[in-house]
Amino acid sequence: MAIQTVGIIGAGTMGNGIAQACAVAGVNVVMVDIAQAAVDKGMATVASSLDRLIKKEKLTAAQKDAALALIKGSTDYAELKSAQLVIEAATENEALKFKILKQVDELLAPDVIIASNTSSISITQLAAATSRPERFIGMHFFNPVPMMALVEIIRGYLTSDETHDAVKALAVRLGKSPITVKNAPGFVVNRILVPMINEAFFVLAEGLATAEDIDDGMKLGCNQPIGPLALADMIGLDVCLAVMEVYLAQFGDSKYRPCPLLKEMVAAGQLGRKTKRGVYAY
Ligand code: NAD
Repeated sequence: MAIQTVGIIGAGTMGNGIAQACAVAGVNVVMVDIAQAAVDKGMATVASSLDRLIKKEKLTAAQKDAALALIKGSTDYAELKSAQLVIEAATENEALKFKILKQVDELLAPDVIIASNTSSISITQLAAATSRPERFIGMHFFNPVPMMALVEIIRGYLTSDETHDAVKALAVRLGKSPITVKNAPGFVVNRILVPMINEAFFVLAEGLATAEDIDDGMKLGCNQPIGPLALADMIGLDVCLAVMEVYLAQFGDSKYRPCPLLKEMVAAGQLGRKTKRGVYAY
């Protein structure tokens, strides 16, 4: 089944980014959220993001208008019925996602594919909340969606080859470079990234080098665009800690123990950029 219209649940950071990526690629979008204010905010974010691309001469005003015309914002889930693929990008909360997925599973025709953009919840478990686990898949976009090339495509235990191939083809149509991953905590990228950040906190706590030198070391020695400690400040130290705690619990392997310094800083409320103080001051 050709994907002509993509439904998106959630008009927040990720939802409106996915909507923009689809619309710029000429794919129709229906984006739903719980409140009209959230829909309006999502639409306004897409418009201002497209304006920035016009300023950088990466897009024309006509292309902006054409993209915006392809996005329909709504608070009515029934609008999702026109989609061949629905991507769930609502708040990261397990109970909420189960509720939403049950609701759309009942609403949508049986051949519609449902994807989730979750960063941490098991795709196999989410698939089991629906009556179509073979047509359920993870589509993990990266933030900011219009700029980031990667989409991790996560196959649940029962995801079919047809579902995988259709979603992968769509990601390529959006100009992305997808990788295929089996379902496991953190998938692939965050599984490697967050323990690396945690290790940087151990190195800092052991006094082996200053924060600046740790970050310079990883930038200059590993060609990373930003050091792991500065990145932790961007992601949020609380988010990094929560992810390590999930890995420790789910893998039962002590190599995922969170660094005590990371725990202390979170307990002190130094969460990074969002609290103006993390490893660095902002
Ligand atoms: P966000 O808070 O910016 O947006 C979530 C949106 O979902 C909000 O607009 C909220 O009103 C809406 N929502 C809540 N309940 C809803 C419902 N019942 N129906 C429809 N909409 C509903 O969150 P976000 O950062 O966009 O994250 C969304 C998902 O993407 C999460 O699963 C998150 O883990 C994942 N993700 C986030 C990032 C990131 O960097 N922000 C990266 C990759 C994946």
